[in-house]
Amino acid sequence: MVSISHHGATSGVTGSCHELTLAPSMKKGSDPAGSDPNFKPRGSAGILIDCGLFQGQDEGRGASASNLSIDFPIEHIRALVVTHVHIDHVGRIPYLLAAGFEGPIICSEPSAIMLPEILEDALKIGFTRDRRLIERVLGLIRSRLVPVPYGQWHSVFVENDCSLSVRLQRAGHILGSAYVECDARVGNSEERIVFSGDLGAPHAPLLPAPQSPGRADRLVIESTYGDKDHEDRETRRYRLKSVLEHALEDGGTVLVPAFSIGRTQELLYEIESLIHEFGGDALASGMKMGSDPTGSDPSFTWESLEIIVDSPLAAEFTRIYRDLKPYWDAEATELVIQGRHPLSFEQLTVINSHEDHLNAVDYLARSHRPCVVLAGSGMCAGGRVVNYLKAMLGDKRNDVLFVGYQAAGTPGRDILNYGPRGGWVELDGDRYDIRARIHLVGGYSAHAGQSDLLRFVEGIPGAPTEIRVVHGDEDAKAAFQVRLQRVLPGSQVLIPA
Ligand SMILES: [Zn+2]
Repeated sequence: MVSISHHGATSGVTGSCHELTLAPSMKKGSDPAGSDPNFKPRGSAGILIDCGLFQGQDEGRGASASNLSIDFPIEHIRALVVTHVHIDHVGRIPYLLAAGFEGPIICSEPSAIMLPEILEDALKIGFTRDRRLIERVLGLIRSRLVPVPYGQWHSVFVENDCSLSVRLQRAGHILGSAYVECDARVGNSEERIVFSGDLGAPHAPLLPAPQSPGRADRLVIESTYGDKDHEDRETRRYRLKSVLEHALEDGGTVLVPAFSIGRTQELLYEIESLIHEFGGDALASGMKMGSDPTGSDPSFTWESLEIIVDSPLAAEFTRIYRDLKPYWDAEATELVIQGRHPLSFEQLTVINSHEDHLNAVDYLARSHRPCVVLAGSGMCAGGRVVNYLKAMLGDKRNDVLFVGYQAAGTPGRDILNYGPRGGWVELDGDRYDIRARIHLVGGYSAHAGQSDLLRFVEGIPGAPTEIRVVHGDEDAKAAFQVRLQRVLPGSQVLIPA
């Protein structure tokens, strides 16, 4: 018997954690209760796919160390497979180790480089400040990492009557992201189960688009954007251009809350391409000589646009992206051949120390120097972006540009909802009025939109018998379920409770 289960909440944008367990053929009646979801027949063995930390609304319900602890049996878990290193897919790994998990952590080669970095940050924020303890946990994680190249089968276990192998395929979501193909064999029967992880949009910059799996008898698919489509790449790029032009006209800061991995690098890539294309063109086209109230230079051009990445972690991941060029797509590779540096152009400044960060907030808030600042966290729920928001939301010359999904219950969602109506947002317990202009350029998300997800599923030769829709708002999951069921009437499409 091959069973799939989902741990932790599957509602809202919560931590992903799925289990695939193989049990040797079992005689009737060996589960005396018959209904215990945690019942594992003797000789069972399985894997976890991701072990993520809650975000957004669910976090607001009071995530504490105690309810993050692993509350399901793990004695039979032989390995953890990581689809990608976003915190909602890997954040609970320290808790998994604390619960006694002793197996390998299987992931792609880029993910193996990034995982300790992202967990170090997570540990510092949510776990402990004790440097020695952090080092010990990280050492343990590094010793368990098993990097597996894309497209290569890897045997996880062969025991009793069961065997399981996994293969990672590019998911195009962030560097190192993968969907997981699992070949499960119990006795003479075998089955291919695919876990999508987060899939990228096909036109995302930098990374190749995901290809549909060649086979999937059962599929577990994320649906963060299961109810909508993104703007196409060109539209999005020109929207970014006009937001930046408009925003910089009146000499304020354009603040972009962005996660360290993925969108930050995509955005830098697109900004570099705008600078390259429009170079000497005036940015602040609406400003007349001599009438500039802000004191900024009216001959401001794209080439003189300053971009600040105020996040040591984002800077570190940008460096890793730069180092791992073999994983870039053809377009990005072509730019490098032409001598361009999409992720390290001269207008880019990185702020590392906390002191420099505070100085930058203060300086930009006072000087109204036209500038683009990228800072985390992406949903404004913490991190350096909060200091910028406090200093800048009240000034209408400033702009906040959202480029990613804002989960319900996060300050990001409140700013997006109430900002355009002249509302306020609560940050660290205080109310801040929102006078800055608020923009959303949705297509910069590293998630696939509804049509992309449908194409991914429809591209599988021979529809899966069962499709489980996970990871997304209730509405997104429900909408995606309806669409999927319509195009694949022969498949059973479920939303696991
Ligand atoms: Zn992700």
